[in-house]
Amino acid sequence: MIPDYHLHSSFSDDCDTDIYDMIRKAASLGMSSFCITDHYDKDYPVHPEDSCTFDLDIPRYLSEMQQVKHTVSNDFDLKIGIELGVMPETADTLAGFGKKYPELDFIIASSHIVCMEDPYYPSFYEGRTEKEAYRSYFEAILENVSNFHDFDVYGHLDYCLRYGPNKAKCFNINDYLDIFEAVFQKIIPDGKGIEVNTGSLYRGLDFPHPHRKILELYKEMGGEILTLGSDSHDINHIGYAFPETAERLKETGFRFYCTYEKRKPLFHTL
Ligand SMILES: [Zn+2]
Ligand SMILES: [Zn+2]
Repeated sequence: MIPDYHLHSSFSDDCDTDIYDMIRKAASLGMSSFCITDHYDKDYPVHPEDSCTFDLDIPRYLSEMQQVKHTVSNDFDLKIGIELGVMPETADTLAGFGKKYPELDFIIASSHIVCMEDPYYPSFYEGRTEKEAYRSYFEAILENVSNFHDFDVYGHLDYCLRYGPNKAKCFNINDYLDIFEAVFQKIIPDGKGIEVNTGSLYRGLDFPHPHRKILELYKEMGGEILTLGSDSHDINHIGYAFPETAERLKETGFRFYCTYEKRKPLFHTL
């Protein structure tokens, strides 16, 4: 079973799942390793209808996860990562994040906030077309990868398609081709990758993030580094649809997936 490289535990502000329960569940699925990637979104603008700050006590997180790692080390290879929310406003101040926390095996950079709003909320789409809203989301990713380099893979590249009024119905990569080409021109030569996130499949989309057309472009441009993540916030979605997703990736021409050890990718045959 391919190790899950996008998972949330009770250290994430929007999750109360126990890490030991997660490990037990993963082991029961035949997974001998996974990477925990709890949320840290610096300066997340708290939504009036919600209380999540997506802050994280990083030293405590790292120390507790290391303890868990030692406790289970005979049976399970726990990797310690983080899902780092990046926005154009914080990209500069997050420089050197990985150096500051050398305990981390893996860093996902994710866009959750664009112009101080989370595309999760319907207000993100109000007063403009869906295409304009999506474009602003993708443009923020390009800005982030231009100004922030301390990550291993970029997370759920088309996260906004989960929440747009018509989700992916009107998505056409040609509307955003210039942006995705520029993103991949930055990250591929820099030795970074993207994640394939199956969280979309249990949130109403019929493809894992990112859309197949985005994956094809990534492949065409020489992209090879891929991790698989379920973005699970409970134990029931760990490794969600991984076998089918691996098949889709092979059909798209990918041969490998990656795991990480102290920020270095290791390639494994799909
Ligand atoms: Zn995310
Ligand atoms: Zn996540």
